[in-house]
Amino acid sequence: MEIVAVINQKGGVGKTTTTVNLGAALAETGREVLLIDLDPQANLGTHIGVDVNEPRKTIYDVLVHDMPLSEAITATAEPHLSCVPSNIDLSAAEMELVSMVGRETLLKDALEVLERESPGRYEVVLLDCPPSLGVLTINALSAAHRVLVPLQSEFFALQGMAKLTEVIGLVQRRLNPRLSLAGIVACRVDRRTKLTQEVLDEVRRYFGDLLMETTIRPNVKLAEAPSYGQSVLAYASDSNGAADYRQLAREWLGERVSADPVPEADAEEGAASNHQAKAAEQ
Ligand code: ADP
Ligand code: MG
Repeated sequence: MEIVAVINQKGGVGKTTTTVNLGAALAETGREVLLIDLDPQANLGTHIGVDVNEPRKTIYDVLVHDMPLSEAITATAEPHLSCVPSNIDLSAAEMELVSMVGRETLLKDALEVLERESPGRYEVVLLDCPPSLGVLTINALSAAHRVLVPLQSEFFALQGMAKLTEVIGLVQRRLNPRLSLAGIVACRVDRRTKLTQEVLDEVRRYFGDLLMETTIRPNVKLAEAPSYGQSVLAYASDSNGAADYRQLAREWLGERVSADPVPEADAEEGAASNHQAKAAEQ
């Protein structure tokens, strides 16, 4: 069982979209995938078609009431893809866990029990983190083997990355020596624009090969899929969004992939519209 934490303390950068669709792309290869929502906003369950307003067991019961993880797992409509939803109760968890001994490793412990009870049942576990570096995110980092950071290539993309890598380093030293920052994926990026190229160059300067070759293009199907309770692979299998997440899955599994070449003329056009966008903001 490989455990992957999808983390960025910024909201709206593509964590949930990446968790669901990378998960669906890995499931499409026949791997058994478990998605776990650690965000009280509970977007992950909704995205993959789990009604989070119905009374059901959630990650909150696992973390706060010590319920076995297996009791909170729900199948989704997509083959090989299961999910542990969250709900708004989880927003109280940070407070409720304050005085609990071992609160940083509750999820790790729960996943170890799951693996002991049903060895090999899940090959990949993806943890969708909340937009903060609180106890829920620390739980994800304590449980994970690898961290994947979705990033938006905007001017402030790198802001916060120093803090994030610091926290990853701390957890590595104190709680989880096997943890590694394994990849940064640029989401909702139009690689033809000059600003995007500049930001990606900057990320590469700091993080080198950790920046994945695969970038996720802006794609309306990715934004529409959640309202149908489906991954983009199920909702629009031929879309750019599905293609990008399939490629990300291949790269994540260690296959060599190449980024599409940037068409020159479009790059100029992109740069121009970029200046217009900046002007419009001012
Ligand atoms: P986070 O979980 O980091 O808060 P989300 O994955 O929920 O971010 O993404 C924020 C919003 O952006 C969602 O409405 C989502 O559908 C949309 N979105 C994410 N990635 C893309 C993309 N590549 N193209 C278009 N819309 C996207
Ligand atoms: Mg989210």
